[in-house]
Amino acid sequence: MADRPLTLMAVHAHPDDEATGTGGVLARYAAEGIRTVLVTCTDGSCGDGPGGAKPGDPGHDPLAVAAMRRRELQASCEVLNVGHLELLEYADSGMMGWATNDAPGSFWRTPVEEGAARLAELLLRYRPDVVVTYDENGFYGHPDHIQANRITMAALELTGMTPKVYWTTAPHSAMRRMGEVMREFGADWEEPDPSEAAAMPEIGLPDEEITTWVDTTEFGGRKFDALAAHASQGENIFFLKMGKERFTELMGVETFVRVRDTTGAALPENDLFAGLR
Ligand SMILES: [Zn+2]
Repeated sequence: MADRPLTLMAVHAHPDDEATGTGGVLARYAAEGIRTVLVTCTDGSCGDGPGGAKPGDPGHDPLAVAAMRRRELQASCEVLNVGHLELLEYADSGMMGWATNDAPGSFWRTPVEEGAARLAELLLRYRPDVVVTYDENGFYGHPDHIQANRITMAALELTGMTPKVYWTTAPHSAMRRMGEVMREFGADWEEPDPSEAAAMPEIGLPDEEITTWVDTTEFGGRKFDALAAHASQGENIFFLKMGKERFTELMGVETFVRVRDTTGAALPENDLFAGLR
């Protein structure tokens, strides 16, 4: 047995990403007695302000937005029983191409080595057995998600001691279901222009390339409540409109691709800690 608790660390870009991508595994593994650590890299200051104000609009004060989102993040962590919340507090870079990408202190313009060195300190402190972050495209191309992947992979390289590393992903079957539900609930869902879609890296993976399917349906209500703690953000409202039951049907199984493993656990697997306990 190890001389410390089994530990899961999730590295996310913004307040609320912990709920959508990994709310189920954070809640489930905490309930199983595993220590959970959430690292949130940015302050979320490019998120929606009061009344849905966007950055640059009157009524959008980045400092006030960051303070509000920190409170929401703390509430979400309480719902999910996150054991340790670590904030790197880089400035939110906003969407790709926004002027905020290049603003002083933005996460996107932070040298990877600098962010990686800070994250490596946390890896040395907590010595997680499992680390979860985004894929190299940040799932959908957000610069802060891409940067979270880069600093995480660089920090893991520096410390070299984490047995299992995962990227969050979604199977194409679930992406199709999501599209149907979005239309049903009247979300602003535009069919991607086929010519643009061809030029973009595809989001998610074919089902057969998913290595790890974790059933967290028992914790669907908690995941929903965690997301509800971030209700100031417009894009979360669509999920909340669905109600707990539909939300859990759609989002209750969390999926990953395993990118590093020293345990030899057979694939596909249904537990991030397979081979570790
Ligand atoms: Zn995000």
